[in-house]
Amino acid sequence: MERLKWVEMGGKARPATLNLTPGTKVYGEELVQIGGKEYRVWNPFRSKLSAALIKGLRDLPLTHGSKVLYLGAGSGTTASHISDLVGPEGVVYCVEFSHRPMMELILSCKNRENMLPILADARHPEAYRFFVGEVDVIYEDVAQPDQTDILLRNAEVFLKERGFAFLALKARAIDVTADPRTIYKREAEKLGSKFKVLDILHLDPFEKDHAMFLLQYERPIMELTRISRSS
Ligand code: SAM
Repeated sequence: MERLKWVEMGGKARPATLNLTPGTKVYGEELVQIGGKEYRVWNPFRSKLSAALIKGLRDLPLTHGSKVLYLGAGSGTTASHISDLVGPEGVVYCVEFSHRPMMELILSCKNRENMLPILADARHPEAYRFFVGEVDVIYEDVAQPDQTDILLRNAEVFLKERGFAFLALKARAIDVTADPRTIYKREAEKLGSKFKVLDILHLDPFEKDHAMFLLQYERPIMELTRISRSS
């Protein structure tokens, strides 16, 4: 069963995900029937991952049964589509530190057994390491000046070897004066210490000055000390 389909809306191709809770909407999205199943149309103006798909994201390593750590889940708009993609065998741990979106997030999670809300600051992964084990994917959208460091820190604690990460990078959260392309290049170099950069997609016109990074984790291999055989 395909959990992601493309539908035509107003002459434009839009992604849609198989609704885990048929008959219910999360943020007022359109519901469509395809082959007798209900799909939720994924709005690219409300979700950077939908925008990345439309802008040509080549791979989507979010499959049935994936375990996902979502940093900066907000009210759960994108997290709900990821919850559709990973299905009932998967899990989406949703970290959010702000109380207002957390109230809405809790409501979204109530209907979806594979979405778990965690009220915590993503800068401190040790605060939720007892609830979250090893994950296949980290998705981060925190719009903070230290967004790259937050991802690196969480990957070290939770991400499996050769696991994937999505980073929705907001250039203006790092430096309002610099050219966003300069920032993407600089952050890509920083990420390169631990990740292979697989794809970078500029998200305009859906999100100005944002890029989606798709990364694969390469844990640094520990250096072995050679035994000296000479006398
Ligand atoms: N990802 C959401 C979506 O697509 O549905 C939108 C997220 S919004 C751009 C960024 C969210 O990250 C906000 O709700 C904010 O409160 C949260 N956030 C920012 N810094 C955070 C941190 N250090 N720890 C946890 N959440 C954080």
